[in-house]
Amino acid sequence: MEKKKHIRLRSGNDLQLTIADYDGDRPKHRRRTVRTLLLSPFQRNLRPFCYAPFLSMDFDATGAIRLCNHSHSPVAKITEDTSVIDVWRGEIYRRYRAEMKDYILDEENCRHCIRQCETGSSKNVFAVAQFDRWAHDDAMPLYPKVLIFRLKNTCNLACVMCDGLTSSRIRKERDKLPSTASMYGERFFKEMEEILPHVDHVEFYGGEPFLVKEHLRIFEILSKVRATCTIYVNTNGVSLHPKAKQFLEKLNFKTIAVSMDAVHDELHREIRYGLRSDLFYKNMEYFLDLRARKGVEVMLNVTEHRMNWFELPEIFRFAEAKRLYLHINTCIHPHNVTLYTLPSTQLRYVLEFLEQERDLLLVDYRHLTNLARYEFLLSLIRSELSSRRPDWQAEITNRNQSCNGFLAAPIPGLRPFETPAKVSREIIRITSTMGGKPATRMLEQMLVRVRNLSKQGPWADVTQQLQQAIAILPECEANAVFQ
Ligand code: SF4
Repeated sequence: MEKKKHIRLRSGNDLQLTIADYDGDRPKHRRRTVRTLLLSPFQRNLRPFCYAPFLSMDFDATGAIRLCNHSHSPVAKITEDTSVIDVWRGEIYRRYRAEMKDYILDEENCRHCIRQCETGSSKNVFAVAQFDRWAHDDAMPLYPKVLIFRLKNTCNLACVMCDGLTSSRIRKERDKLPSTASMYGERFFKEMEEILPHVDHVEFYGGEPFLVKEHLRIFEILSKVRATCTIYVNTNGVSLHPKAKQFLEKLNFKTIAVSMDAVHDELHREIRYGLRSDLFYKNMEYFLDLRARKGVEVMLNVTEHRMNWFELPEIFRFAEAKRLYLHINTCIHPHNVTLYTLPSTQLRYVLEFLEQERDLLLVDYRHLTNLARYEFLLSLIRSELSSRRPDWQAEITNRNQSCNGFLAAPIPGLRPFETPAKVSREIIRITSTMGGKPATRMLEQMLVRVRNLSKQGPWADVTQQLQQAIAILPECEANAVFQ
């Protein structure tokens, strides 16, 4: 029997996932023959692991050109002499195209998708989710079909999981560095006038896309060349100036993705530092109005990490109530913010919580629209835990210096911890699952919150339970949280 072929890395090592299993979960298509052409004219004869090198160019704030916005290695850098079209038709793109056709991955460049493949299916692999829908059969396309713009880091927020490369505010306030120069000059914008009429889809990320002057210039070009491409924008939801609204009304916006990491205002402002909740919800209503008037899809981009793990089910509830598609942005750094460098006891504690909450969500919403994304989140955590060997150590190369790196305590007073009984159960779970310093720290945070709630009745009992638990918890260095 023929051995099943696995997806391979450039190093020659195989991934666990076979090509057949990877393709099995992708949108169906068969090899193009006269018969299949007659049956369906939409069959493809080009079937790579990822269509990005056949479709896409990503331009970031450092002037790097990449295959996609999750690529780790630039294929070229913008200078005065760089021709975007020459890069697109050049040697490096050709090499990626040949490799992707053979299901060979550059382990450096494609780390993001490799990690997702390790969950055992292609269901939520970015390459599939992002690029299969734009698939075509041209193995040597003259122009890209998808462009991703992140041309400058201009941003008015300083989110906990972000960095100075992506936010000018972090660069200024956290890193104490001068602002960066724009890498995109006249030649780039001139070439865009030639390229954009051939493009099917463009995406804008930040910084905050509506505050990036270079993006506004691309919006102008889209308008000038009467481009018909669809537009996706990922906004922080608090930067809607009149010009941005004009473009939103006039251009072919297909999707507005709003970053949202908590429902609770105070927590949301802690995570997305600088956010104004009143503005956020006002603009959310405007986006929903655009959806009603123009059919623009509105979705949530949610990043999971140590500060909002217990709030995630609430965001799923919010999405359900507003009929919003929810995307989980896997937070892999900073390493003192991501969940995936937590000691296993803490990560298991988070997983158990999310598993229990999944069941409660399904009681509230039998047909939870975003269930697949919730399951995906669980599978990422499970896969992280099961891949750890006994000698596992967190690899720490990147940290947010302004963050203490502790796993935040669940906040009483908020669902799902709104009753003393629930908080009481959680105290037991924290002490029995984690113990040691991490548990003590969490319980101390909870104690502050509970004291604020009420000094009477059942909350007073919980206060006492917390005090007792803190007093008897042994110091346990082995479980010490990474800082
Ligand atoms: S495999 Fe993933 S990371 Fe690599 S180019 Fe495709 S989408 Fe980007």
